[in-house]
Amino acid sequence: MAFSLPDLPYSYDALEPAIDARTMEIHHSKHHQAYVDKANAALEGTAFAGEPVENVLAKLATVPDNVRGAVRNNAGGHANHSLFWQVMAPSGQGGSPSQSLGSAINSTFGSMDELKAKIADAAATRFGSGWAWLIVRDGKLMVGSTPNQDSPLMGQDMCELYGTPILGIDVWEHAYYLNYQNRRPDYINAWWDLINWNKVSELYDAAMG
Ligand code: MN
Repeated sequence: MAFSLPDLPYSYDALEPAIDARTMEIHHSKHHQAYVDKANAALEGTAFAGEPVENVLAKLATVPDNVRGAVRNNAGGHANHSLFWQVMAPSGQGGSPSQSLGSAINSTFGSMDELKAKIADAAATRFGSGWAWLIVRDGKLMVGSTPNQDSPLMGQDMCELYGTPILGIDVWEHAYYLNYQNRRPDYINAWWDLINWNKVSELYDAAMG
């Protein structure tokens, strides 16, 4: 099966006012759709066509040279956005971290406030376009960022911040520019209120095995 655009788990206006409906609609139906279409076109006719996106990213180094760049950008974009939609929820509906995730956050970072500060810093200081992440590597939580559409799932050879992403924020201008223009820190701060901690906790447990 080729990749397809996943439905959002909420309506385009569900994340307002933090993220406006127009931004969500363009981001999902145009930007994410384009990553899906271009990833499918790049993979067509290769041995990787039809594989789950996580597998394609994990084996990116062995994707044929002539399409590797397109796969990196577009399969990466597809995976990143698929996660991004899932780890957000309308304000007040995202729950709170599970006991296991909450205690890992406290023991790793000191407090939720410290985690927020670390993610906000990673997101604000990512130069140009990219993502900030909370990942699990070797059973431990880590915060960092990636350029462009690089994914921690691309592994050690392809991505400095390799691991299993459990929370990510898109800091490409297309994610916030209509509402926030150059005020990326304001978008990051508003986004924090949208985190779907129920989903992030589920992803944490899965990553911890
Ligand atoms: Mn995006």
